Amino acid sequence: MTNNEKIPFLDLITPHAELKDELNAAFLEALKTAGFIGGPAVEGLEREFAAFCNARFCVGVGSGTDALRFALAAAGVKPGDSVITVPNTFIATSEAISQVGALPEFVDVEERTSTMDPERLEVFLTTSCEQDPTTGQLTSKRSGRPVTAIIPVHLYGHPADMDPILELAERYRLIVIEDACQAHGAEYFSARTNRWMKAGSMGKAAAFSFYPGKNLGACGEAGAITTNDEEIARKCRMLRDHGQAKKYYHDVEGYNGRLDAIQAALLRIKLNHLPEWNAQRRDKAQVYDNLLADLGDSIMVPLVSIWAKAVYHLYVIRVEDRDDLIAKLAADNIGTGIHYPIPLHLQVAYKHLGYKEGDFPVSERLAREIVSLPMFPNLTNEQQLRVYEALKRIFAERVSREVPSGAFAS
Ligand SMILES: *Cc1c(COP(=O)(O)O)cnc(C)c1O
Repeated sequence: MTNNEKIPFLDLITPHAELKDELNAAFLEALKTAGFIGGPAVEGLEREFAAFCNARFCVGVGSGTDALRFALAAAGVKPGDSVITVPNTFIATSEAISQVGALPEFVDVEERTSTMDPERLEVFLTTSCEQDPTTGQLTSKRSGRPVTAIIPVHLYGHPADMDPILELAERYRLIVIEDACQAHGAEYFSARTNRWMKAGSMGKAAAFSFYPGKNLGACGEAGAITTNDEEIARKCRMLRDHGQAKKYYHDVEGYNGRLDAIQAALLRIKLNHLPEWNAQRRDKAQVYDNLLADLGDSIMVPLVSIWAKAVYHLYVIRVEDRDDLIAKLAADNIGTGIHYPIPLHLQVAYKHLGYKEGDFPVSERLAREIVSLPMFPNLTNEQQLRVYEALKRIFAERVSREVPSGAFAS
């Protein structure tokens, strides 16, 4: 087989070609009415996406970052507070914390799921914080600030272990905002409620991104907040629209963070296909799992917990000598990604937080070993086979050069 056609990391062209007529019609309809801000398309998407997430309310906003920022503010996080999240996430998670005037503080992740480790969270709350005996308020010893919220990230489309996180949050009266920006449709089996729960329905509120490459992506920027709390939904609607509930009557200062109507109309069309696209992603993941099992311990495939139904926003493997692998796959015309190469606590932007290498060893190790393989709903069996063949050849070459193999042997 000599097919060397490019296998992209992500194919955004094909789904738009397939939906071209429907998307065009929605766009032309928007031009006809010139209702570009708010209106029936936005309200329709909000209704349908809330239903998809099993949440009572959805508020469409300009991006996932807006969604995080508005959710934090609406849920009551204040300037001067401290908010706990993980170091291995996209920087938008911690930017939103800073942008409401709070300080991000990190706890490390579980190695097997790459999501917030509830045991480390408990250690942080019990040993790195002090609790006021009369008010119950937690204060971070590190920053001296009141700890008021937690943002678990459902990274790569795999839900964080929400039961113990929510239990700790209740014990210490902390707000939980889910970062569900990579997890549209992911599910978590909650032993507390004895049922499967959708990402976006478990915390006080949740943030979704509709950035083009996400499982549900707009043709531009867009995002949404989901919540079961009517008051939070109301506040988010005000925050996205300059703090006004009625035109030119501003109760608070807000933002220009609205979801535009054209994006909402396009997203409604795509939302109809999301369950099928997520099912296709799961099938592709299964195909990779089966193929890569053949390569033994040179590759660690993504683990899905028994309490999780993942939606594989990304299919992330772990290997030794990652950069070499990426270069060789690129030479074979196979696209890859790294999500993310530098954990947040080691980013230049967060020098002032005073963290150092070694503070979050799991996140640091993951950052060195992870590679995101091509993953999208219309990835073909033939393409997956080519990825597998390339990996197999690369590892065979490594062994023959007596580069130590078996990344996880020690
Ligand atoms: C994409 C993403 C965001 C930000 O979403 P935008 O729409 O790009 O603002 C936040 N958190 C995570 C984990 C993301 O993947």
